[in-house]
Amino acid sequence: MYDIGIIGGGTAGLTSAIYGQRAGKQTIVFEGANYGGQIVFSPQVENYPGIASISGAQYSMNLKEQAMNLGAETKQEQVEKVEEVENGFVIVTTEGKYPCRTVILATGVTHRHLGLEKEETLTGAGVSYCATCDGMFFRGRNVAVIGGGNTALQDAEFLSNYCNKVYLVHRRDEFRGDAKNVAALKEKENVEFVLNAVPKELLGDMMVEGLVVTDKVTGEDQTLDVAGIFVAIGHLPKNDAFAELVDLDGEGFIQAGESCETSKPGVFVAGDCRTKEVRQLTTAAADGAVAALAAVKYIADLREKR
Ligand code: NAP
Repeated sequence: MYDIGIIGGGTAGLTSAIYGQRAGKQTIVFEGANYGGQIVFSPQVENYPGIASISGAQYSMNLKEQAMNLGAETKQEQVEKVEEVENGFVIVTTEGKYPCRTVILATGVTHRHLGLEKEETLTGAGVSYCATCDGMFFRGRNVAVIGGGNTALQDAEFLSNYCNKVYLVHRRDEFRGDAKNVAALKEKENVEFVLNAVPKELLGDMMVEGLVVTDKVTGEDQTLDVAGIFVAIGHLPKNDAFAELVDLDGEGFIQAGESCETSKPGVFVAGDCRTKEVRQLTTAAADGAVAALAAVKYIADLREKR
C-alpha cells in the first residue's frame, strides 16, 4: 500500500511527491498525458523565486527528476476513479488498481474553448491551444492569438518570431497579463492589437481560412486573414471523476481552503484544480507542500488512533 497516491504530475503533484518522500512516505504519481502540467508549454518562466529564467519544459524536467531521485514512483496511466476502502483508498486507472492510505488530487486544468461553431472540427486544422507545440506549422503565415492573459501575450510574442503577422485579439482594452509582457509585444512590428473584439466565426471547412471578429464598441465585424488561431483564454478544471468523492464548487473546482483539505478526510487537493484566487506556479508548489504535509500528519494521526 502506498502512503500517498498523487493524481496529476504538474507542479502541485510533483511538489507533493518531493515533500512526501522527504517525510519518509512512499508516494506514487499518476499522469495521463505528459509530466509537468500546463507550464511545459511556457517558453520562458521568469517569475519563480530564485530562478531568474527557465523554459517551462526544462523546469518540468527538473521537477520530475527531483521527485524521482527522492524515490517517488510515477505511472503514466489515466485515473478513472478513486474508491474509498476500509483503511484508505484505491486509485483505479485504465491499467490497474493502487491502494493508498491518502490521496492528493492535483489534476490541474484544461484549455477553455471559445465555443464557436466548427471550433472542434478545425482543431488541428488551424485551431490550436498550444503555440509552443504548433507554432512552427505557421511559419511565414498570418495567425491570430485570442486572449489577454500572460499565456496569450507570451504566445503572441513567440509566434511573432516565426509568423508573417500576429493579431492579438482581446475582448477588452486592458490586459490581465503582466505589463512587462504587453510592453514586449508592443515592440514587435508584426504584431497588431485587435482590442475590444470578440471572435464571432471561423472561416474555412477543411482548414482555417480566416477569423471574423466583432468590435464590441462599434458592433462592426472585421475579417482577419489568418491560417492559424491560437486560443489562450484560460482554463477549466477536470474533476468530473471525483465529483462523488469530494465537494466541487459551482465551476467544478475542488472545494478547499489554504489547508488543502477536501470534504473527504484523507483526500487532499493541490494546485490549479482547487478553489483559489491566484493560480501560479508558486501557489501550485505551495499547495503541493501543504497537501503533502497534511497527508503525512493524517497518516500519523491514524497510527496514533490505532
Ligand atoms: P488567464 O490569466 O485566465 O487569462 C485568460 C484571458 O482570456 C483573459 O484575458 C480573459 O479576458 C480572456 N478570456 C476568457 N474567456 C474568454 C472568452 N470566452 N472569449 C475571449 N476571451 C476570453 O489565463 P492564462 O493567460 O492562461 O494564464 C493562467 C495563469 O497562468 C495566470 O495566472 C498567468 O499569470 C499564469 N501564467 C504564467 C506564465 C509565466 O510565465 N509564469 C505564463 C503563462 C501563464 P479578461 O481579461 O477580459 O477576463
